[in-house]
Amino acid sequence: QAKADGKNLCRFFNDQMNTLSQERFELITGLRLAIKRQEFRLHYQPKIALDSGQWVGAEALLRWQHPEKGLLAPAVFMALAEETGLIIDIGKWVLQQACTQCRAWHDQGFASLDIAVNLSSVQFSRGNLEREVKKALKKSDLDGQFLELELTESLLLGDAEKVRIQVDKLRAHGVSFSIDDFGTGYSNLGYLSKFDIESLKIDQSFVRKILDSEQDLNITIAIINFAKSLGLTTVAEGIEDAEIMAKLAVLGCDLGQGYYWSKPLDAETFTSLLRQNHASSGQDSPTPAVPD
Ligand code: C2E
Ligand code: MG
Ligand code: MG
Ligand code: MG
Repeated sequence: QAKADGKNLCRFFNDQMNTLSQERFELITGLRLAIKRQEFRLHYQPKIALDSGQWVGAEALLRWQHPEKGLLAPAVFMALAEETGLIIDIGKWVLQQACTQCRAWHDQGFASLDIAVNLSSVQFSRGNLEREVKKALKKSDLDGQFLELELTESLLLGDAEKVRIQVDKLRAHGVSFSIDDFGTGYSNLGYLSKFDIESLKIDQSFVRKILDSEQDLNITIAIINFAKSLGLTTVAEGIEDAEIMAKLAVLGCDLGQGYYWSKPLDAETFTSLLRQNHASSGQDSPTPAVPD
């Protein structure tokens, strides 16, 4: 009986594994075709200046409009895209699309809006990031100062020298860099003196709990003060309500992002909300006042 059970158990696991690898295989096949079929989309989430409430930038977030499964978030496919190296071609598309959209916003009168793009370590280790960024800026006619590239701490722990060289080259084109999910990397902070970084994005896991957990509040305060002492800007991620927003403003955090203002939106919806925000804050308005 025990033997028979064992056999059944084995069969069960094999079936499970076959289903898994089957799904994986289908996802990879789909990913390979997705660029050609133009199934990728970029959604945009605003970055807001906490003192003025003005929308000062947007973060581009990748989505896959899957023919059967609907709109997929990066959690579903990003790991596979990285493992297979497909993220290199996808990443080129993201850079190009994000820069083109930012330039379109500038042309519509939002001339100071920044665009932020997330990068994967594979784009540094196996791609030619410098070339791709320069190409995207040139084709979209966007000045490098409006492009911000988001890196993770783990990315900087890899082949740091290779990354540093590419970062420095891109800095020379005005492109800036930020550390995403800051505080979750458990790394020593020495890399901050090696890399020319402009801002730290405080991870949502701290931000979300600053009103309930003294420890998370203290970590957040420490990050903000630490960033200030290094001359870096701080961005709080995952702000979902007014109380947390107000607290972060008091603590001196510069920018915020989160559902409190908006989820990531398609370009068209983002544009109409951007228009409203600029109309109400009266700055950088796309329709200049008629001189009298
Ligand atoms: P991330 O760069 O840290 O982006 C923030 C994530 O938090 C986004 O998830 C966003 O939708 C979500 N978020 C924003 N505000 C809130 C909030 O108030 N509450 C909650 N609960 N969530 C919020 P998303 O779009 O699913 O992206 C997940 C991750 O996938 C990103 O994390 C980034 O690491 C990666 N990713 C997204 N697009 C790209 C891309 O084009 N290239 C690469 N390499 N990675 C990307
Ligand atoms: Mg990010
Ligand atoms: Mg800039
Ligand atoms: Mg993040």
